[in-house]
Amino acid sequence: MLLYKNSVLKKSALKPYLLLKIFNMAKSSFEYVKNFELDDTLLPNSWIVIRLDGKCFHKFSEDHNFSKPNDLRALQLMNYAAFTVLKEFNDILFAFGQSDEYSFIFKKHTTLYKRRAAKLLTTINSKFSTSYVYYWKKFFDCEVLKYPPTFDGRTVLYPSDENLMDYMKWRQADVHINNLYNTTFWNLVLKGNLSPVQAEKRLCGTVSSDKNEILFQEFNINYNNEPEIFKRGTLLIRKQIEIDDTSRSVVVAVHDDMLKEKFWKKHSSYLSSKNFKQYLKYEGPITDIIKDQLSCVKS
Ligand code: ATP
Ligand code: ATP
Ligand code: MG
Ligand code: MG
Repeated sequence: MLLYKNSVLKKSALKPYLLLKIFNMAKSSFEYVKNFELDDTLLPNSWIVIRLDGKCFHKFSEDHNFSKPNDLRALQLMNYAAFTVLKEFNDILFAFGQSDEYSFIFKKHTTLYKRRAAKLLTTINSKFSTSYVYYWKKFFDCEVLKYPPTFDGRTVLYPSDENLMDYMKWRQADVHINNLYNTTFWNLVLKGNLSPVQAEKRLCGTVSSDKNEILFQEFNINYNNEPEIFKRGTLLIRKQIEIDDTSRSVVVAVHDDMLKEKFWKKHSSYLSSKNFKQYLKYEGPITDIIKDQLSCVKS
């Protein structure tokens, strides 16, 4: 009677296989091996950041004819794969992607998978990686995926809001440094007829202003006019959107400048309040990612 009142058993009365499993497990003399599993619960009250990065994407991008320095299809696929992760895991507050990497930032007080490190990292990496393959054709059309890509992953904890903001700034500054270098390098190679070795030599010891100057003087390119997605990477963030007089939260892709304090002032509620539900209002264009979420609701 007491047993029956136990909610697990009561529920499983409808599922005999589960009952069998419970009793078999209880009986097994092998179960002690479970004690060898180490506890990997992440520290409470700290920001959990998971960063994934493509393995040998230098080669992967060549094997799949990515245009250099920036293949838009590849960036959009990365964004879409990350979007599928955010769609499934509400506990991710925002994500930031550039090149072959994506960072996922969890709500500070998340209890997802009881904050177990391996469970979080492997599940997020798996969802992202399989989505990258699953949605390949949506973005690459005729370009065949020649082999399965691999992504590595790490989990980092940040104890303070300042650390987290600096992390986001660090990743975005990295986009700027790499993109300015790569844009100049590939213009020297593709339009300036230098070999990669010569282009590398030419850029050795140059600072940002030198590269801006090479782009402007030799290739008539004003770096400031390059697409935002190339210069700043992509931030996937939850916002409120008004549709048919009702407010809904959706994941949107933006290219805001996170190096500016203005961004963090505007988004301070995302970091500060413990249980806030009201995301900031979104005022940008209705993109495919947003349409995707709105159509899910209607069907
Ligand atoms: P969790 O996310 O906690 O792992 P789960 O639903 O995956 O939850 P598991 O304990 O991993 O639970 O059990 C996997 C379940 O998947 C099985 O109980 C069974 O229902 C189903 N399953 C897996 N492989 C097969 C298979 N080859 N044939 C039929 N069912 C399967
Ligand atoms: P590792 O396995 O150590 O991460 P890697 O070859 O992946 O090695 P990264 O430093 O991660 O090296 O750099 C990723 C590389 O992938 C870039 O340097 C670039 O060559 C290529 N790449 C990634 N995304 C794109 C893109 N959208 N367009 C063009 N090239 C890209
Ligand atoms: Mg890589
Ligand atoms: Mg990388």
